[in-house]
Amino acid sequence: MQNGLNEDLEVTRRGTRAVRVGGVIVGGGAQVSVQTMNRSNCDDVEGNLRELVLAAKAGCDIGRMAVPNVKAASFFGKVAAASPIPLVADVHFDWRTALAAINEGAAKVRVNPGNMGRDGLARLSDAAGAAGIPVRIGVNSGSVLAPGETADDKARVDVMVRRTLEWAGILSNFGFRDIVLSFKAHNVRETVLANRLAAERCPYPLHVGVTAAGRGGLALAKSAAALGSLLLDGIGDTLRVGFTGDLEGEARAGVEILRALELRAAGPEVIACPTCGRTRGDLAGLVAKVEELTAHIRAPLRIAVMGCEVNGPGEARAADIGVASSGGVFRLFRRGVVERRLAPENAAEILAAEAEKLALDYGGDE
Ligand code: SF4
Repeated sequence: MQNGLNEDLEVTRRGTRAVRVGGVIVGGGAQVSVQTMNRSNCDDVEGNLRELVLAAKAGCDIGRMAVPNVKAASFFGKVAAASPIPLVADVHFDWRTALAAINEGAAKVRVNPGNMGRDGLARLSDAAGAAGIPVRIGVNSGSVLAPGETADDKARVDVMVRRTLEWAGILSNFGFRDIVLSFKAHNVRETVLANRLAAERCPYPLHVGVTAAGRGGLALAKSAAALGSLLLDGIGDTLRVGFTGDLEGEARAGVEILRALELRAAGPEVIACPTCGRTRGDLAGLVAKVEELTAHIRAPLRIAVMGCEVNGPGEARAADIGVASSGGVFRLFRRGVVERRLAPENAAEILAAEAEKLALDYGGDE
């Protein structure tokens, strides 16, 4: 069983090599990790650290920071030394910058090798190998074609995967195999196709995500659709959700997508109906109150809050604990059995208190 979640529906993860990013294992069946990337200017050490603390609090496992040139690597080093989570150096164009970031303590380097050349890759693989850190070859569909080159969606996916595997092959021929690959497109279908193709063709762990997804509901929908499709097929070892300008939101979304897929346990899941014309009273207010009162619980409880006797009893019975409205009161269910009736005025407080008691069954960890 993974994370104490539903054994029958457990995802069979693709077998991959495992690499170590600081204290986080990526691949090899390890829990799927969540990443994010800082927005602060490279020379703003305090700002970068503030973002990493926020990301860690939101459940993020690995951070990333842009290192545009050798000079920026010294700022990267200061941030990496104080970061609460392992920090990846994001480097383009220049292998010397990658080497400087490795010297400054990068837990991993992300590169787009198309602009580093074979000699640069040789130096990079030597330095990363000596430091014992992995390299991610991260390719976005928008950058895969040469200027003037055109291709339809399918052909672009083929080119993206083929060229990336060629670069991975070069690193591998240098004796360096701690490789992570990523294939990102701005649309869901290309992202999914590219990762499925890569999963068939290589043993490397995959960093999955949609690039340039934008912000708001559509960005979340794109990420959830692509990552859901891949992760339920066992493809994907670490992920990043990208929201324009919102580091904390994207970190939380990454964690929530894993929770929705039952690939990560992170506190209670409140199962609540959408409400309809049958609902009596303020169910949305009750749900918000229950979420607030149970936010400190770490155990992966399912707590149902349902609005009537149509679907309410079924969901409440299937949850660890739950309430279903009926005739102006709430019936309290614990592990499938009706225990008592609660007045709406104190239903949230009693439900939360009962959830706390149940949480103790999970090894005493509320
Ligand atoms: S559980 Fe009842 S109140 Fe809630 S949406 Fe369904 S029918 Fe409506």
